Amino acid sequence: LKNAATGVLSLEAYAPGMPLEELQRRLGIADAIKLASNENPLGPSPAVKAAIADSVAGGNLALYPDGGGFRLKKAIGAFRGIAPERVTLGNGSNDIIELLGRVFLGPGRAALFSQHAFAVYPIITQAQGARAVVVPARAADDAQPLGHDMPAFAAALKANPDVSLVFIANPNNPTGTWLSPAEIEAFIRQVPAHVVVALDLAYDEYMEPALRSPSREWLEQYPNLVLFHTFSKAYGLAGLRVGYSLSSPELADLLNRVRQPFNNNSLALLAAEAALGDPAHVARSVELNNRERGRLTATLRGMGLTVLPSQANFIAVGFGRDAAPINQALMQRGVIVRPVASYQMPQFLRFSIGTEAENDRLVAALKEILAS
Ligand code: PMP
Repeated sequence: LKNAATGVLSLEAYAPGMPLEELQRRLGIADAIKLASNENPLGPSPAVKAAIADSVAGGNLALYPDGGGFRLKKAIGAFRGIAPERVTLGNGSNDIIELLGRVFLGPGRAALFSQHAFAVYPIITQAQGARAVVVPARAADDAQPLGHDMPAFAAALKANPDVSLVFIANPNNPTGTWLSPAEIEAFIRQVPAHVVVALDLAYDEYMEPALRSPSREWLEQYPNLVLFHTFSKAYGLAGLRVGYSLSSPELADLLNRVRQPFNNNSLALLAAEAALGDPAHVARSVELNNRERGRLTATLRGMGLTVLPSQANFIAVGFGRDAAPINQALMQRGVIVRPVASYQMPQFLRFSIGTEAENDRLVAALKEILAS
């Protein structure tokens, strides 16, 4: 079988966290909490649950979903103030990343991204038989420690003419660091028209309004730009797998040529539409997150820990030593977080922001561990 596989043998599969119930069972801690996957602690809008219940009761699950995502694309277009032809739907934004890879990467081509960037970029790059050009991150004492270094991106692009796709995550996972719209645009202006810039906005909703990307204006100006969003984070729909990209209609057409028919199931399509219709729920989720992110950051810094500045729904916390034993000790206390050693950050753990009670429990467990 190994001889039959093409080019994938040096890949490591993305290791997602286990479902909470399974972790609780394995740990033997019934009330273990999970602050590991950047999910929304408030869950989805009540409107989503009602829409799904109505559909299950009255709809016909034997029928294929709307394969073109007509209604959801129209709703996203109206929400963003852009034409539905510019919207491409994905089974989560991971699917969008894969579509981009399948269209723009292959042998003889390269993808460019930052050192501590989201794990799916290198996986898709390698799976497509393309080369990865990894740009060293900013220094640990920079204002955006370990974040994207855009002048270095521009230099790497010039030095590597085989680059066909650039990934920028704003804010970035797992660092939480961010770029201003001016920094992003200054880079895009230097990118030749045949290179696609993919701007991953999975955590965009959590950013200060002045830092959010002006999608509509940029799309008018830069036909090689694709921005993508997810319903997994601020909308609380991670379990349903819906993401989408915004681009020129020409780029959307290319993505659609390789998109699986029916890549979103019927319940996910209508749940996402219902979620878009409840902006107050998103506002509540963002408000809770940003308040708790500030509180948790201040508390942990007060304990002498390094907390990278974050505009997302998680923080990267540095312990100044191997963080694996601290991760284990947290787990034994029923607090599941995300180690980021695979992101070349072995001294850090990533904490998703939870409810007030969950964050308090994390702090109490950490205090106990650090005192022992
Ligand atoms: N981009 C980034 C930066 C992420 O952190 C994630 C989720 N971990 C994704 C994309 C993918 O999310 P989803 O497939 O659930 O939309």
